[in-house]
Amino acid sequence: MAKALIIGAGGVSSVVVNKCCQTPDVFHEICIASRTVAKCEAIKNKLPKTSTKVSTAFLDADNSQMVIDLIESFKPDIVINVALPYQDLTIMDACLATGVDYLDTANYEPTDTAKFEYSWQWAYRDRFKNAGITALLGSGFDPGVTGVFCAYAQKHYFDEIHSIDILDANAGDHGYPFATNFNPEINIREITANGRYFENGNWIETDPLAIKKVYDFPQIGPKNIYLLYHEELESLAINIKGVKRIRFWMTFSDNYINHLRVLENVGMTSIEPITYEGKEIIPLQFLKAILPDPASLGPRTKGKTNIGCIIQGTKNGEPLSYYVYNVCDHQECYAEVGSQAISYTTGVPAMIGAMMILKGIWKKAGVYNVEEFDPDPFMEALNNCGLPWHEAFAPALVED
Ligand code: NDP
Repeated sequence: MAKALIIGAGGVSSVVVNKCCQTPDVFHEICIASRTVAKCEAIKNKLPKTSTKVSTAFLDADNSQMVIDLIESFKPDIVINVALPYQDLTIMDACLATGVDYLDTANYEPTDTAKFEYSWQWAYRDRFKNAGITALLGSGFDPGVTGVFCAYAQKHYFDEIHSIDILDANAGDHGYPFATNFNPEINIREITANGRYFENGNWIETDPLAIKKVYDFPQIGPKNIYLLYHEELESLAINIKGVKRIRFWMTFSDNYINHLRVLENVGMTSIEPITYEGKEIIPLQFLKAILPDPASLGPRTKGKTNIGCIIQGTKNGEPLSYYVYNVCDHQECYAEVGSQAISYTTGVPAMIGAMMILKGIWKKAGVYNVEEFDPDPFMEALNNCGLPWHEAFAPALVED
């Protein structure tokens, strides 16, 4: 029986809270803390009947001392950070100061530059080790489950893994001309950055969205996929020993790409501050303010997501290709927890990661990415907690 402090009250947080409350034997008490306390209250008030005790608190997680004060008064066993990547380090500092385990779903980002790298958080390894506490990084879907899928393939099926293609398809339709499925600022920073993939020990950079293919997804059908850089590539290139190539692909409709190009061309996706009527604003943050709130897309989004990994390598000297993926239905997620599938596929693995630490299964002092732990209990929990996975041998490959 444990207590969890859940920081952030957006789309992902709402799913984490619902899933913790569905698992009261592990999460006997939770506190939802965020910058806008009314959003914490709204999540709490929509919860179905649960034996998990739920409270809310105001928290500005940019202020490490405020996080420390809340940890000292609530006394959680774990902090689940589902605020924004900008808060990762202040929250990790607070966990170190109070000796509490830490989990997040996205790597730290400085506000003024889009980097997508783990260097800042990996620099905390010795401090977490010396403090005897665990930090689990990137326990969402991608990063998160995709890393667990790779570790599972490595453990059970392959002697050598040569290539990994991570495929993230969202065939959901929310009916708006343009909206993002999770935090627009983070999402657009990711998509407008240069593409990058790992090959033979080198990182190959491309212009944004420059490489496009078509892939015929199980349960979804053929979709345009674009090569992006995604943060799990960095840790997988190190942790999946011997891998020669790793690429990440995401689907976008032509409509989405057209809107994005126009917004980019007129400067609306920039993170450089500009002065408007005497006030400094960041165009991308202004754009976020006028786009639909991702947490509001739940009731409108129909269709499915399919996220998984195609892995190629050898077993007993023979070539082997393997596809492991999850398919999630937006409307089924909404019926269960009141959120669309992007928030659902992120929030469920965050709860599972926390459960792995709290049960002592993934409890190890230091800072770790998900693929560094035994994948089996996590894979079992995915099947039991709403994200069942499928596997196929000799699947269609992403064409070269
Ligand atoms: P939202 O924008 O919906 O929610 C973010 C929440 O964090 C909001 O409640 C916001 O408060 C709160 N917040 C922001 N700044 C602070 C602060 N200084 N102190 C306290 N709370 C703060 O985002 P999502 O729920 O869509 O995403 C949450 C996280 O999940 C992000 O880091 C995102 O990158 C990550 N993610 C990971 C995925 C994965 O598969 N690994 C996939 C999708 C998302 P307010 O409402 O006041 O703004």
